[in-house]
Amino acid sequence: MKRRDFVGGIAVAAGLTGCAKPENECDLKVGVPVETFEWSCVTSWPSRFPGLGMAVENLAERIERASAGRMKIKIYSGGELVPPFEVFDAVSRGAVEMGHNAPYYHKGKVDAAQFFCAIPFGLNNMELNAWVHYGGGLKLWRELYEPFNLVPFLCGNTSVQMGGWFNKEINSIDDLKGLKMRIPGLGGEVLRRAGGTPITLPGSEIFTSLQTGAIDATEWVGPYNDLSFGLHKAARYYYYPGWQEPGPGLECIINQDAWNSLPTDLQAIVEITCQSITTDMAAEYTNGNANSLQQILADENIQLRPFPEEVLQHLKVITSEVVAELMESDPSSSKIGEAFYEYLAKVEANSNISERAFLNTRKK
Ligand code: CA
Repeated sequence: MKRRDFVGGIAVAAGLTGCAKPENECDLKVGVPVETFEWSCVTSWPSRFPGLGMAVENLAERIERASAGRMKIKIYSGGELVPPFEVFDAVSRGAVEMGHNAPYYHKGKVDAAQFFCAIPFGLNNMELNAWVHYGGGLKLWRELYEPFNLVPFLCGNTSVQMGGWFNKEINSIDDLKGLKMRIPGLGGEVLRRAGGTPITLPGSEIFTSLQTGAIDATEWVGPYNDLSFGLHKAARYYYYPGWQEPGPGLECIINQDAWNSLPTDLQAIVEITCQSITTDMAAEYTNGNANSLQQILADENIQLRPFPEEVLQHLKVITSEVVAELMESDPSSSKIGEAFYEYLAKVEANSNISERAFLNTRKK
């Protein structure tokens, strides 16, 4: 341990305990130097990007504050230390202690991780949070990541997204045929089976691709993030709802050995702070989306539209086929998918008589 690592901790400890020994012999309780931790965290996000990128900045800032400086985390934006989609591997092999990204980026490597992020027509933000923390989801998630030497935490959620920006009207399922659309993950596979061409692009390339006509449509997040990319200047039709991402959960992943090295109080600070980020991000997005929607509604060049019901029902049928194949092809996806859908059926019955019933009533 470098001496400068524990000087800050000693000042706090001496102040709290009134320890009369030389400073570097004092501790909160037992009179030994306070151990501090300086970690690196790689992410998939542009630096300090609203919502997604700020969530992990806030995580680091809050952990440092709550630990009185005993734990400092340096954040690296996507591509700065490792490519945006290699966060999982970097933390798994211990190149860095921590990572922040979206579990569905591990499709093809750990397919079942998608159940902890976004399944089309699946759990929304609060339902996912409930399943992970109270419905048995976290235990399954920990088991899934254990072979990769990783400990996962739910850490953020954009809440329900938008269907996306389109340069043509979608009046029937036939309008999806031949459509070139930026849409990742299972949603992209559903579009493919509906006759479209899904394309995966990082956020930074979406605007130019849409503006030049290289793609006909894109989904990104919702009003708050979409306007910051200027997508409203590259497409006319803005469709809702985001059937493909009803409430994608983000994850904080920690290398198992790094996690084991933390004392239990710092482990608790990390765990509790991750939960606070999920709550905080929902509030940020609710507020940011509401503000950006005002701008959208006032812009006569934007056509805000719901997808036709027939289109959504068709996409839902295809989703069932895609998820069934995923579950048949992979034992982990089968086990976790079964738990996911069992929970969805149960929680939806309650959502129908609470949130849905209330929002319908308030609208009348
Ligand atoms: Ca999205």
